Amino acid sequence: MVETYDVVIVGAGAAGLTAAIYSGRKALKTLLVTGPNIGGETNSTNDIRNYPGYEGPGPDLMKRFWEQAKKWGSEVRESLVLKVSRNDGLFNVELSEGGSVLSRSVILCYGRERRKLGIPGEDKFFGRGLSTCTTCDAPLFPDKITAVIGGGNSGVEGALELARIAKKVYLIHRRDKFRADEVTVEKARSEPKIEILTDTVPVEIKGDKFVEALIVKNVKTGELRELEVQGVFSEIGWVTRTDMVEGLVETNEVGEIVVDKFTRTKTPGLYACGDVTCIPYKQTVISAGMGAIAALDAYKFVTGSQASDEYSK
Ligand SMILES: Cc1cc2nc3c(=O)[nH]c(=O)nc-3n(C[C@H](O)[C@H](O)[C@H](O)COP(=O)(O)OP(=O)(O)OC[C@H]3O[C@@H](n4cnc5c(N)ncnc54)[C@H](O)[C@@H]3O)c2cc1C
Repeated sequence: MVETYDVVIVGAGAAGLTAAIYSGRKALKTLLVTGPNIGGETNSTNDIRNYPGYEGPGPDLMKRFWEQAKKWGSEVRESLVLKVSRNDGLFNVELSEGGSVLSRSVILCYGRERRKLGIPGEDKFFGRGLSTCTTCDAPLFPDKITAVIGGGNSGVEGALELARIAKKVYLIHRRDKFRADEVTVEKARSEPKIEILTDTVPVEIKGDKFVEALIVKNVKTGELRELEVQGVFSEIGWVTRTDMVEGLVETNEVGEIVVDKFTRTKTPGLYACGDVTCIPYKQTVISAGMGAIAALDAYKFVTGSQASDEYSK
């Protein structure tokens, strides 16, 4: 028989784990389904300074979230959610481990994915000189030659951060104008360790076991250049996937799930929290707060204590 839950929470980052704490404390029959990265993106930083009441490594903070979530009795399954659909007033949640579960409500907390470069060498050298997190990995490149790809704030700030540690930093941007704040770009321009290559795209990452070179191409002249680097940092943004909830949610112009102040999507009983949503500030504390709101509202929805006129955007 297919198991039926009050709440299925998708993802165990700050949003999902907080939703599990609140849902468990409301004695809702809760299933937390998560991919392998328990703790989510907060695990990527070793220095959280803006989470109220806590300063220290991200993974340690998320371990506390995880321990507290488990304490309140949610069932946990390590599996990816492949699809959420709605049938006869219940949600059908399809799992990658096979099979599916039913639920009266679903809270989507699955965050977003880093955009890929889509060039040869990307998969081979990920974690072997290629990083998608300058904040996390810059300290691993003292006195090395590095390249940062990306013209937004993350890219330019990343290059500045690396310049404090590395011997040299190439800052590679596909256009001639940066998207980053002008003040930050000016700082990068006046930093002697940074060489800016505009109108330039990465073509291939090369090496034996670790990164040894980055091939780049000037999009205006077509000229190829081999940069001898030991570190490549890809800071080209994020993608929000919504194919698993197609038709059940509205998305904004950048593909994020649109929610109201109760974290409700357009489908009653379907909630979304944290980085997967249209809420502009992607921060651990904000994801946690949204997880709490979702679980409290799901409780009202599941127990029928929600006045129908409350359901408005
Ligand atoms: C380098 C870096 C540094 C940062 N520093 C800070 C900081 O100092 N302070 C701060 O407040 N914020 C910081 N952030 C932002 C913060 O990490 C995010 O805002 C926060 O992690 C978002 O939490 P979330 O729960 O919404 O999503 P995530 O943390 O992304 O969690 C998503 C969860 O969903 C799971 N998942 C994904 N797909 C599926 C699926 N199909 N099925 C089931 N589970 C799935 C994942 O395994 C993961 O457990 C930083 C982020 C980065 C990358």
